[in-house]
Amino acid sequence: MTIDHAARRARLAAALPAHEVHALLVTSPVNVRYLTGLVSSNAAVLVRADGSALLATDNRYIDKTRALDVPAVEAPDVAGRLAAPGVGIEAAAMTVATFRRLEAGLAESGGDSESQGLVPLGPLVEELRAVKDEAELELIRTACALTDQAFADVLPLIAPGLTERALARLLDNRMTELGADKPAFDTIVAAGENGAIPHHAPTDRELRAGDLVTMDFGARYHGYHADMTRTVCLGAPAAWQRDLYDLVRRAQRAGRHALTPGARAKDVDAAARGLIEAAGHGEHFRHGLGHGVGLEIHEDPFLGPSRTGRLEDRVPITVEPGIYLPERGGVRIEDTLVTREGGPELFTKTTKELLVL
Ligand code: ZN
Ligand code: ZN
Repeated sequence: MTIDHAARRARLAAALPAHEVHALLVTSPVNVRYLTGLVSSNAAVLVRADGSALLATDNRYIDKTRALDVPAVEAPDVAGRLAAPGVGIEAAAMTVATFRRLEAGLAESGGDSESQGLVPLGPLVEELRAVKDEAELELIRTACALTDQAFADVLPLIAPGLTERALARLLDNRMTELGADKPAFDTIVAAGENGAIPHHAPTDRELRAGDLVTMDFGARYHGYHADMTRTVCLGAPAAWQRDLYDLVRRAQRAGRHALTPGARAKDVDAAARGLIEAAGHGEHFRHGLGHGVGLEIHEDPFLGPSRTGRLEDRVPITVEPGIYLPERGGVRIEDTLVTREGGPELFTKTTKELLVL
């Protein structure tokens, strides 16, 4: 499946008049990639309201632009090369220092007081990116399949004595061996009491019998991200561990079932959170239920009690409730899915039965 970058630029161009600009200067590297196909750490693209575009990058990447369907110029100062009066900029992507420098440059060259400066705008490209085309979904599906396979391959190696860091390294290495670009983010492995910390960074703590062990990881494939969390138990679970696991699993299922085009972001969150609150653990679930995934690991839309907006069709998103008991441990279960008319498609397929190792 090939990606039609011109069609993406056309959709962006169509959105510009409503923001009263005749062009948008896109400087977020991931947004430049989305609109042109250029993978770089330094590029900008000017997309005009008529759908035409001009790309600028430095001499490290200029050769790569020859294969693209957009004209390109080489410039050390990519944003400066494309900045013009009355052009929109991505407020979230440009530093204040760059903004001031570009404005000063325009004032110098333009001169008269009539000339407009740059126009800071919101996340226009991010909004376009939320709904994926089938080519993107195929890449995320593959990223998730690599994630599932890495987990299956590493599972037999999880045993008392292995450290959190060593387990994280096994998962990371396996994903890369299977064909991932690299891990989608810093892998989380949290054993025992460390499981009470949602974003615990792996340490030299050894896994022990009786631990719940939470692993949150994913593969990145052709720039697209997977995100999965599983919690396993080393040895037979205590009653409180099984109860906690069952509750999170039921909440996760409720969240997945609420995932439908047209659903409000806060209602999907509430579907899962309500079960956890009813069981008296509301205060132990302090993060949002999920987030979009794509060219970034966390992107629009976000699921949470105060999130606004509704889900659309073809939006890859995670569902990841967790319960974290201070000093005791925690459980989180996370899948990556995509919204579909008629029910979500599950991308991460690893079992959600409690695995007792
Ligand atoms: Zn995750
Ligand atoms: Zn996540």
